[in-house]
Amino acid sequence: MKFYIMTLGCKVNIYESEVIKENLLKNNYIYENSMENADIIIINTCTVTNMADAKSKKMVRRAKRFGKIVIVCGCSSENNQKNYQEMGIDILIGNKDKSKIHMLIQEYIKTNKPTTRFYKEENFDFEDMSVEKFHSHTRAFIKIQDGCNNFCSYCIIPHVRKNIRSKNFKQTIQEAKILVQNGHKEIVLTGIHTGSYYTEDNHDLADVIHEISKIENIKRIRISSIEITELNSKMLNEIKNNSKIVNHFHIPLQAGSNEILKRMNRKYDLDYFKKKVEEIRAIKPEVSITTDVIVGHPYETKELFEKTIETCKNINFSKIHVFPYSKREKTPSSKMPMQIDDKEKKERSKHLNKVSKELEEAFYKRFINKEVEVLIEENKKEGSCGFTSNYLKVQVAEKLKKNEIYKIKITEYKEGELIGIKKEQITCK
Ligand code: SF4
Repeated sequence: MKFYIMTLGCKVNIYESEVIKENLLKNNYIYENSMENADIIIINTCTVTNMADAKSKKMVRRAKRFGKIVIVCGCSSENNQKNYQEMGIDILIGNKDKSKIHMLIQEYIKTNKPTTRFYKEENFDFEDMSVEKFHSHTRAFIKIQDGCNNFCSYCIIPHVRKNIRSKNFKQTIQEAKILVQNGHKEIVLTGIHTGSYYTEDNHDLADVIHEISKIENIKRIRISSIEITELNSKMLNEIKNNSKIVNHFHIPLQAGSNEILKRMNRKYDLDYFKKKVEEIRAIKPEVSITTDVIVGHPYETKELFEKTIETCKNINFSKIHVFPYSKREKTPSSKMPMQIDDKEKKERSKHLNKVSKELEEAFYKRFINKEVEVLIEENKKEGSCGFTSNYLKVQVAEKLKKNEIYKIKITEYKEGELIGIKKEQITCK
């Protein structure tokens, strides 16, 4: 039987879809690239914003029209159980049991009975799952952590991903070893709140990075996102002494004024954030620091928004992912007065996106005439493209080998990318 998977949302969902895919392939199901031609359609949903929910539901409705076996899982189904139940899904689960979907499908085929599985408990253990190879990605992800206990006022995620929990340390290292043996040179450590990684045998994120970096042939270790409060002295020391850690950190700021940070229940103020960024830049001068900012959170006046603009310029991020505030039911922010109207949120997003473009361009241009190392991710007729350690996209005219690292001399910046000339291939140590 042929299966198709659609993934919405974050890197954790991408990883979990890869787990579902690998389990099905091992059980002799065939991967199919289009919804139309598949016998089984799996939609791994997202609920981070109203838009993500709407898109997830739209995709499920589309899947239902084909009259195939439809499986729905993920954050949107966890958050809107009733809505999805009413759609008559064949296998409906939340975030738990994604690693068992292949078994649920077998059971469904045998009995022809629909299944709905949601769990009520408060404390979940980390669900064992692993991936051996990412067939469509050069970079390999490992989900090392799940859940969040922070309860930022605007965020629905702790309600759908539940308590923080971490992958067993030894299994994490073993998974990384297998991924590297299978050809991946870059590992991305990911989670809902990756920096909170902590195991019963007292291993933290810095320990994971330290151990993974010893694997023969690994070239880069990336953290998908880290909270500023988790860049403690042990972590900064690891960043300083471990050359495998990439020159890129994604650190969510969320708001550029202390007033809104407090309303958001974020655990730092601007002075703390700026000081930590300075510490990272002192260790890695060419580091790219990217961020997420929510615009139009309740109580964000025009003046406070201006403050956010000023803070972003002042911190000099190399890219800002701008999210117009999305009112999520069950969250404290949704009950706050002084909600900002959608038109205003749209305007503010446009403004901050423009600032992001300017900062990004300035950061890219710093590398003109420099030599950078690029991991090639794509080769097309017209040449190849890949990413540097600090996540700059680089195009070269030559057809270079995919999944190899080359030294490239940057000659120009063009429409959001750097253009360069190949100098030499770097061999892995
Ligand atoms: S840290 Fe805050 S924003 Fe991030 S998942 Fe947890 S509650 Fe949401």
